[in-house]
Amino acid sequence: MDYLNLFHIYKQHALFGRYIPLALVERVAQGLQLKMEVSGASVNQRPLYQLEIGTGARKVLLWSQMHGNESTTTKALFDFIAFLGSDEPEAKRLCRHFHFCILPMVNPDGAEVYTRVNANGVDLNRDAVALTQPESRFLREVFEAFQPDLAYNLHDQRTIFG
Ligand SMILES: [Zn+2]
Repeated sequence: MDYLNLFHIYKQHALFGRYIPLALVERVAQGLQLKMEVSGASVNQRPLYQLEIGTGARKVLLWSQMHGNESTTTKALFDFIAFLGSDEPEAKRLCRHFHFCILPMVNPDGAEVYTRVNANGVDLNRDAVALTQPESRFLREVFEAFQPDLAYNLHDQRTIFG
């Protein structure tokens, strides 16, 4: 399998640069004809989306951009989603083996102003136990309902990396 070739085919060029706000993600999702379900709302009432792909027994939860200024994994996720929706044999195989639940942007308010924290100034990655924020509760509720076998908490290293 030529992974580099696949990357060039399914890369979502509209998701470009460090600043990836929710509106851009919504446009790309629309272009891919994805059915993103609204499963929650941020502090500033932006939708928190959930997307499920695949029919397999093994459940994989992936969430991105809980730090609003860490957009690299969101971009990678949509390349992966575009690939999963294709007719590539490897994509079909993955969808037969796995049930993916994807939260493409856990912190859309932070993404809008390109900051780590949410609109209340809380680092959501430090709020997983206290659950003081609506975005944290959304993530926990999806986790409890979905009961994943594997969970990917997707981050960047530092904002200087794109
Ligand atoms: Zn992070």
